[in-house]
This record gives sequence, structure tokens and C-alpha cells, in this order.
Amino acid sequence: MSSPIAYAIRPSRPEAHVYAVSCTVQVPDAGGQRLFLPNWIPGSYLIRDFAKHVLRLEAECGGQPVAVSKLSKETWACAPCQGPLTVSYEVYAWDFSVRGAHVDATHGYFNGTSVFLCVEGQEAASCTLNIRPPPGECYRHWQVATAMARDGAPRRGFGRYWAEDYAELVDHPVELGEIRFAGFTACGVPHEVAISGRQRSDMERLCTDLRRVCEQHIRFFGEPAPMERYLFLVMAVGEGYGGLEHRASCSLMCNRWDLPGPGDEPTMSEGYRRLLGLCSHEYFHTWNVKRIRPAAFVHWDLRRESYTRMLWAFEGITSYYDDLALRRSGLIDEAGYLELIGQTATRVWRSSGRHKQSLAESSFDAWTRFYQQDENAPNAIVSYYTKGALAALILDLTLRVRSTCTLDQVMRELWERYGKTGVGVPEDGVQRLAESLSGLDLGSLFQQLLHETEDPPLAELLAAFGVRFELRPAESADDAGGKPARSDPRRPRCVLGARLGNGPEVQLAQVYDGGPAQQAGLAPGDVVVAIDGIRANVQNLDKLLARSAPGERLEVHAFRRDELLHFEVLPQAAPADTCVLTLVSDVSPEVAARRQAWLGATESRP
Ligand code: ZN
Repeated sequence: MSSPIAYAIRPSRPEAHVYAVSCTVQVPDAGGQRLFLPNWIPGSYLIRDFAKHVLRLEAECGGQPVAVSKLSKETWACAPCQGPLTVSYEVYAWDFSVRGAHVDATHGYFNGTSVFLCVEGQEAASCTLNIRPPPGECYRHWQVATAMARDGAPRRGFGRYWAEDYAELVDHPVELGEIRFAGFTACGVPHEVAISGRQRSDMERLCTDLRRVCEQHIRFFGEPAPMERYLFLVMAVGEGYGGLEHRASCSLMCNRWDLPGPGDEPTMSEGYRRLLGLCSHEYFHTWNVKRIRPAAFVHWDLRRESYTRMLWAFEGITSYYDDLALRRSGLIDEAGYLELIGQTATRVWRSSGRHKQSLAESSFDAWTRFYQQDENAPNAIVSYYTKGALAALILDLTLRVRSTCTLDQVMRELWERYGKTGVGVPEDGVQRLAESLSGLDLGSLFQQLLHETEDPPLAELLAAFGVRFELRPAESADDAGGKPARSDPRRPRCVLGARLGNGPEVQLAQVYDGGPAQQAGLAPGDVVVAIDGIRANVQNLDKLLARSAPGERLEVHAFRRDELLHFEVLPQAAPADTCVLTLVSDVSPEVAARRQAWLGATESRP
């Protein structure tokens, strides 16, 4: 049966990074059909104006050209016609990320939001998608990886696919190329991993570990899983990191060295732990944000921003459970999990913006602040991911201490009430549900966590679980926290209060509020060339600072643009902004039981 709308896409000129796309509307609007391209992609809250990459758009009906006019940056209007109406265009695709579209002679990747025009008024109509290979013999080994339902296309092949509506069409990213596939079954659901990019990895180990993570999440919310199949689309790269969740798949960009290698030790590298954490995060989103959604996301308009103060619940709670699932599935031990919380807390404690922006504000302003971070970001904003994860931790621990309820139960109830029904979660829905399940008045806790900017009482709460929370100074510029200090220095380490860029020069990328560099007048972008008359470089900066004492004046020369400036800097002792969580060995049976209930593995398999 033919669908009301038929799309076709082909990498027509991979070497020019161009897709040719067409959209055929069986019954166009009699008054003239309007079509638009989204301005943003769900899950990534930034206006990206995808329509700026559309080239050579034209329309025809019954072999005759149809006049097209542009109504706004993303909307086109076709002259009235009887139909079927076919709109053809090209899309320039050179955004190598999980959020856009990309194509060259080595592979193709696209999100529907970047390439498929939405037929205004027929958003709910089903559609077919014909994915065609690029022209040329050299592409004969290319395959297709997507979670979209096949409608005649062979497995992993080019051909016709099908989507129930436009929202589904653009919720299945597609990878084309010479792809490495592997698969596993989790709770009866077929899962596939599709890796593109150069790598040699131990796919068997990856699938074994991913299966444990996936089963953990499926059982957490309760079987059956809400999707019929699932796909991890992985781009292995030299540099880059990111993930984006979809209803039956996720797109991940990871460092190829984070993938497990064929000869690796059974112990887990930090890189592989990070990759599993990312997979776990995106997979948890299959429930939390793809199906349990803020009310503001139920009828969103992909042409303009959708505002919610709840991103802390969708990204923060997900960030809390991504690592916790690694622990519960037995992939990491308790100490390894506490190290990850310590690193998350360190990222929060290192930014003074946490005292200026609340979590609710961070969510609401994601479009212009979190997603448009500039050099002043650490002084101005707080992350709804990291502080949101701490808010979830605090909520969970508070429920566990003060009631018989846990955040696990709150999440399962959110799934029952909102996820399964498709009803949006109201802005205060998490608080109200937690209160009704626990019988507690959580008003002041939610007020403090979401609307105020003081540091939450994490140390006291963790003590009730036999976990010590400590703050110490960073030992080096790349000290990510989570681990005890390696040595006990005889004198405090001095810092300038700035973060350096990644280049070979001592260039200040960010200058922290109230720190020595800012007080002396140094600014983001300044290139420090000498300290006390000695040429400074990235290698000797720590040595130059190590010989100074807090408050001892340093003569600093730096270029601002092309002008040489002189500063007198009074370095400070490194602040205690690095968080470490450790297990307390000697605890009461009551505390031990509480800790076990929170941190114990639920899977005993090796
Ligand atoms: Zn996320």
C-alpha cells in the first residue's frame, strides 16, 4: 500500500557532500502546499537552522513545474496543484556530528531533521523512505544501518523503509557505508551495534557488556521493553565525543581507543568505562525523555524553541542512572562507581556559575546558554547534566533515609503514568509523584535543589550510607577528581585561576571569577609569554608556578591580540574543588544494609 508521502534520498555527489532528496505528496493542500525543515533536532536544544543547507529546491506535478516561493528561513510554499506533488532538492551535508548530516566518499550519515521536509498539515501521515546508494561501482559494498522499519529493503540494505509519521521518520538516524555489525539479544529484544570509522575492536566483549547494561535498564522499568529492536550507531573517531538518543536507536561518537581492543586485559580502562556509560545514558533515554516526556515536548514545534524547567530530570536523572546501571549490572565495583560520582561532583564544584544559575534556570535557558557556552560559561552557568545528576542522587538518598520509597520507584511510576500513556509530565510532576509515593513533604528539598544556588548537603547525606565525601585541591590541571590525592605536598600548589586552551601556547581559554588572573587584569584569549622574565610554555608553566608561594607577586607578560601587556599576578593556593568519595569500612549494620540496597549489584553473573 502506498503511503500519503514518499521520500527518497541518495548521496548523489558524495565528493561534494551532497544528498539528493525528494518528497512526493499524494494529495497536496488545495490552497498550495507548504513544507518546512526543522530548525532543531530533539535532544539537542539549539536552533541550528538546518534549512540553510538546502540547495536547488524545485517542484513538479504531472510533469509540469510548480512555482515555489520562500515564506521564511525554513518554509517553502508551492503553488496550488492537483497532485501528486514532488519537491526535489539537494542538501549540503558536512556536519560531522551526531546532530546533523554528513557525507563523503567514505560514508554517509543523516538525521531526518537535516534532510526531510515536513509536509505542513500532514505531519501525522505515514511515509515511505527509499534510501538509494551513491552512483558508482566503488560504493557496491555500502550497507545501511538504521532502526527504521523495512518496507521491502533487504536487511542492512538499500531500498524502501517506512515510518508511521513525520516524528518517527526523523527519529531514526541512518548510517551508510562499509559498516561493522554485531548483535545480541537483551530480554528477548534484538539489538545491533553498527560501527563506522577505522577501528579494530573486540565486538564480542562490547556486545557481552552492552547486553548486561540493556537488560539492567529493561528490567528496571519492567518487561516488555517498549521497542521491538534497538540499534547502537557508533562512529569511531580520533577526536570527538557525543551521543543523541532516539526511540529505537542512539547515535554515538566515540574515541576509537575507548572501544575494547582484541588483546585488552579484562580490567576495564577508563575510556571503555566512559563509553559504556555513554551507551547506558542514551539507552536509559529510550524511556526517560523519548517516552516519559515533559508536557512541553509532547506537541513541540520543530521550528521554534520548546521551553521546560525539567531538563534536570531528563538529563540529570539519566546521568545518575547511566553510571549506577554499570554498578548494578556488576560491570564496575562500588569504589569505581563512587569515583564516577566524585568526578561528576568535581565538575559541579569547579564552576562558580553554580552560585549564579539554578538548575531550573539552566534547563529553561539551555537554548541560549548551555548550548551556546562561551569563555565565561564556568562563571555564569551550571550544567543540568552534572548538577542534575547530583540532584537525582540527593533525591534518591533522601527518599531512602526518610521513607521506604526510592527514586527507582518514582521512575517506574513515571513510566506507568506518563511513559506508557504518552501523557506529558507536568513541570512539578516529579516532585508530586515523589511526595505521593513517599508520603514526605519534599517542598523545601525541591526548592533548594532546583531553584536555589547554594551547595547541597551532600557530605551529611552520604555519611548515612557509609560514604565519606571530601574536597581537596586539584593535583594538576588534568586532575578530574574522584580519586584520593596521590601525594601530600609540602606546600600548596599555586594556580592562576584560569583554564588553558589546547594549543601549544599558554593561552587563557577561561578566566575564573575572583581568581588571581582575573584580579590582575588578564582576560580570556590572552597569551602568556613570560613569567618573572622567563619564557612561559605549556610544559614549564607548572614548574614556574611551583616555585612561587601563594600571594607572592609574579611578573607576567602576555599578548592581548597583538599588544604586549604587563601584569602583576598574586597566585593563590589551589582551591579545594576536587571531590573524592570513599567507602567507610567500619559502619553499623543499619548503614551497611542501606549502602547495600543503594550500591549493591543486582546481577550476579560474572
Ligand atoms: Zn542525555
